[in-house]
Amino acid sequence: MSGGASLRLIGDYVAPMDEALSVHSPGFVDVTDGRVAACGPLSGAPLPPDGAVVSNVGGLVMPGMINGHAHSAMTVLRGAGEGLPLERWLSEVVWPREGRLDPDDVEVGMMIGAAEMLRNGVTTSNEMYFFPEAVAAGVARAGMRAIVGIAIIEGLARFGTPEAQLEAGVALRERTLGNPLVEIALGPHSGYNLGDDTLRSIRDEAIARDMLIHIHVAETPTEGDAVTARTGRTVPEHLDDLGLLDARVLAAHGVWLTESDMRLFAARGVGVAHCPGSNGKLASGIAPVRSMRAAGVPVAVSTDGPASNDNLDVLEEARLALLFARLRDGDAAALGVSDALHMITREAAAALGRNDLGSLEEGRAADVIRIDLDRPEYEPIRSPSDVLGLLVWAGSSRDVTDVWVAGEHVVDSGVVTTLPLDDIRAAGRRIADRIAG
Ligand SMILES: [Zn+2]
Repeated sequence: MSGGASLRLIGDYVAPMDEALSVHSPGFVDVTDGRVAACGPLSGAPLPPDGAVVSNVGGLVMPGMINGHAHSAMTVLRGAGEGLPLERWLSEVVWPREGRLDPDDVEVGMMIGAAEMLRNGVTTSNEMYFFPEAVAAGVARAGMRAIVGIAIIEGLARFGTPEAQLEAGVALRERTLGNPLVEIALGPHSGYNLGDDTLRSIRDEAIARDMLIHIHVAETPTEGDAVTARTGRTVPEHLDDLGLLDARVLAAHGVWLTESDMRLFAARGVGVAHCPGSNGKLASGIAPVRSMRAAGVPVAVSTDGPASNDNLDVLEEARLALLFARLRDGDAAALGVSDALHMITREAAAALGRNDLGSLEEGRAADVIRIDLDRPEYEPIRSPSDVLGLLVWAGSSRDVTDVWVAGEHVVDSGVVTTLPLDDIRAAGRRIADRIAG
């Protein structure tokens, strides 16, 4: 369908990911002008919108998943340096390769990542990488929704001063305002990498323009030691002291947050992106997700970059989040299916300050996925709500067959309709060879 047209999708099961985690069987979703016009049980459905195409897609229909923290253009670095300890992996493998990337490479890497995410049922990703204009171009070509963070980092001469990076980011935002699928955010690398004056300038721009600040926080136990030695504060306390937490903030990782850091984040409305797969691969630790949510911090379950994961599969991360939380607490009730599904849909949207996404409630974005249930791993379905537990514990993102972003059909029967995928994959292999040096 094209913009402005209307659509009714009918599913054997429709899970709008509302607060109560309803499952309508059968259910419907009406889409008009890229937004959800109505959703509910088919038995109580109004007449379809004027001129709507009615499509009985069967299966499970739900909102597209949200990836709360990713560096997806790193698909071209995937698999490099496997098994090296973190410091050697960064200094010998990642940084030299990144130093050889140009904007066209980043656009290709992002398109590969976007194609992978769309096929996995991910319709929005919160990105942070160098050459953000190339990241934005890649997601725009894929027809995916993204928040594109301007990486702001100290100590990389190639990208200029942090002030110049901030200025370029604000300019990119002005140029991108007309694209409803792309939001430009500010991505200061971390509270320990950047100086106080730079962080204050970032806060000022973010608040003045209602831009999200996307920042790494407490990924490892020792990364904030210098800040604490200098200020006597934890990194979250230091960021709050600078006023940064008064902006919309998404903190990635949060593995080593203290209880008082969590209360501070809750009080300031800061969301956390939890990356269990990446934290496991790099042995960073297990984030205290149960405590964060109990304190009132919204959590988005996320992949992190594909060089440290190595896929962009949010549903798999949701399962890992459940497993890790239960192992951490030694308690099978630590986190449940409803928690996992909320943390990849509506709660992830809340963590990003984007309550226009993440559920099929009226007025929200028509980002919708359809999952094939005609597979043995979805037996038995004895009542409609069984579908959700089967999806999380037994199913896979490989079962996603169709994806709509803002009502546009961008994955049709498993095929990405927006990109010449064979050409892009070949280009990605050439880049991986070249940057290996
Ligand atoms: Zn990261």
